[in-house]
Amino acid sequence: MAYIEIENLTKHYKQGQSVVRALDGVTLQVEKGEFVAIVGRSGSGKTTMLDCRGLLLRPTDGIFRLDGSDTRTLSDGARADLRGRTIGFIFQEFNLLPGLNALENVMLPLRYHKNRRGGRERAQSLLEEVGLEHRIHHRPDQMSGGEQQRVAIARSLINTPSLVLGDEPTGEVDSETSQQLVALMRRINREHGTAFVIVTHDMDIAAQTDRVIRLKDGRVLSDVRARPEQSFLAQLDIQGSAPAVLPT
Ligand code: ADP
Ligand code: MG
Repeated sequence: MAYIEIENLTKHYKQGQSVVRALDGVTLQVEKGEFVAIVGRSGSGKTTMLDCRGLLLRPTDGIFRLDGSDTRTLSDGARADLRGRTIGFIFQEFNLLPGLNALENVMLPLRYHKNRRGGRERAQSLLEEVGLEHRIHHRPDQMSGGEQQRVAIARSLINTPSLVLGDEPTGEVDSETSQQLVALMRRINREHGTAFVIVTHDMDIAAQTDRVIRLKDGRVLSDVRARPEQSFLAQLDIQGSAPAVLPT
């Protein structure tokens, strides 16, 4: 059984008289430890897809199983509990609390968690792992964008999730910093076995992952896995996939 199983997932939003089919029958599976990029133009359903996977949004129809549990039948409380235990989040705009230093920001998710033992030590070692041992007591406004996103990556890992979701996690930083951030996520993915699903419109970022799923109008247009014999970017180009950076 795959780690994530999505079958015919739909999410419709009512807009006055009409209905927006943000997701229109998506079927796919993600294995444990995979690193997946979701690409597609603005409005193609990427955020809706990620929010359904993150148990932040209930789909209109279809099946979403996470590690064997059918999330549709779970109560809101059980969904929140499953989310807290198994999923970490990274956001485009970092979403760090301005009044807290790096260490306190990384420890923040522990507030909602029963098992906090060793949290401070774990937060400290995660900050070391993301290369910020010299920024532990800095507040967000005393750090660069890249450093803030490293803090957010450390925070996403504090509850040792099996899945990290990122909505445009490199959308606010320059391309060199983006490459460093994706390399860091890649290293964490390999060393911890954490699955990553990130939304991006930058094909240079997507090409660093194992697999690129392209959405269009709420449907899967293509789903390409990296093959070792050739650069992934070249394989993605063969798929007839547009310029290096998709228009947003
Ligand atoms: P993306 O992240 O790829 O830009 P979204 O998932 O945000 O796409 O949106 C997909 C479609 O659903 C768009 O047409 C968007 O306008 C619509 N949509 C998203 N959220 C809502 C909402 N809360 N209410 C109504 N329509 C929405
Ligand atoms: Mg979006």
